Amino acid sequence: MTERKTITPTHRYRNNDKLIGIGNEFWDMSERNGLAGIVADYGDGVLRTDASHEFIDAGHEFVNFSCCSYLDLDSHPKVVEGGIDALRRYGVLDHCIARSRVQIPAMLELETSLGELFGAHVVCSIAASTATFGLLPLIASGHLGNGTRPLMIFDKNAHVSMANVKPVCADETEVVTSRHHDLDFIEDACKKYARVAYVCDGSDSLGGYAPVKELAELQDKYGLLVYYDDSHSLSAYGERGVGYVRSHSPVLDERTIVVMTLNKAFGTSGAAIVLDGYAKETLRVIERFGGALNYSQLLNTPAVGAGLASAEIHRTAELTTLQNRLYGNIALFDSLVRTDQAGSSFPIRLVPMSDSTVIEAGRRVFEAGFYVSPVFFPIVARGTAGLRVMMRAGQTERQIRELCAVLVEVGAEQAAALPEEVTG
Ligand SMILES: *Cc1c(COP(=O)(O)O)cnc(C)c1O
Repeated sequence: MTERKTITPTHRYRNNDKLIGIGNEFWDMSERNGLAGIVADYGDGVLRTDASHEFIDAGHEFVNFSCCSYLDLDSHPKVVEGGIDALRRYGVLDHCIARSRVQIPAMLELETSLGELFGAHVVCSIAASTATFGLLPLIASGHLGNGTRPLMIFDKNAHVSMANVKPVCADETEVVTSRHHDLDFIEDACKKYARVAYVCDGSDSLGGYAPVKELAELQDKYGLLVYYDDSHSLSAYGERGVGYVRSHSPVLDERTIVVMTLNKAFGTSGAAIVLDGYAKETLRVIERFGGALNYSQLLNTPAVGAGLASAEIHRTAELTTLQNRLYGNIALFDSLVRTDQAGSSFPIRLVPMSDSTVIEAGRRVFEAGFYVSPVFFPIVARGTAGLRVMMRAGQTERQIRELCAVLVEVGAEQAAALPEEVTG
């Protein structure tokens, strides 16, 4: 028998051997220590693991301090009712046919409502990652833009949902990766290439915001197209919760595209693609050729109904009340535990710990009744391990004070246990 061929991959844009080789070790260790793979029922803001689940902490109660529903809208009675109501009103869960052929008016209703909220044209998608997977290749080929294939610059820290699309874009145009927010690099590219598109997060998952004003200058000077994923700041930030980019970018026209998940602070399901100034023909191209944007009916009816209810809350003073409650909780946390993120309005904090002890620290905090997620090498760079804490509007003062007391205690023990060359 002749010898059969094996394949040597090029790994230009991704490498699963490396990804899984490194990442799986992290997940296994987290799960062995009861800090991943948890199953728990939710009620009154508290989670309970059932004694029938085979976990170390079966029967345990805890408050989730690692949840991105920053305003607790996902359990808001009006949002829950909105989902039930829409299902009754439309009488169908998921009318499955490409929307460009036949659609029920449900998603159009949500798109109209969100469009009014943002003062823009909104296209909904089942997830931000799905929207990105549909849109970035259209940007790469110049069909979403001015017709010229752009050099596509992906920010080094662009969320994995964007980085994952590099190989597809690279089949349509040239793709490069820049250092984080490297404006000089982007400007140099703008001088060399007829068209440039820059892909980045509007708000980073560990705080920090995109330099939207500086990017707007490049947009004005060179016609730079910027694709922002502002998933982390929708609802939690800005008037009527329009997010960071749309609160601050001076360029809100066809040169700025913003995608935001509805799964985080907005509290429902799906995503919003927010567009300004695109011709009807371009919108049709997005709808017809944006990949999963034109497969099955995107958002099922309850997700649409919940979205309509959440959008209504965004139009009332209640949103400001919830945002202020969130900011108050963040300020209380900052007054009790010091982190590099202190002082920012962004709801995520990383309490630094050492790589070798962060899992043990996470366990101690969990046993005290709070879930925070440990992140450590090799998932993050060596020396940047810590417990990731996410603040929400619905956390009570008592819960925050108790969590912080445990964090301070655990942190102090760690500092005392560190070898001298590290502390000194
Ligand atoms: C959470 C997150 C996503 C994922 O959103 P989905 O709607 O679940 O795809 C995408 N991008 C960023 C920046 C996120 O933080």
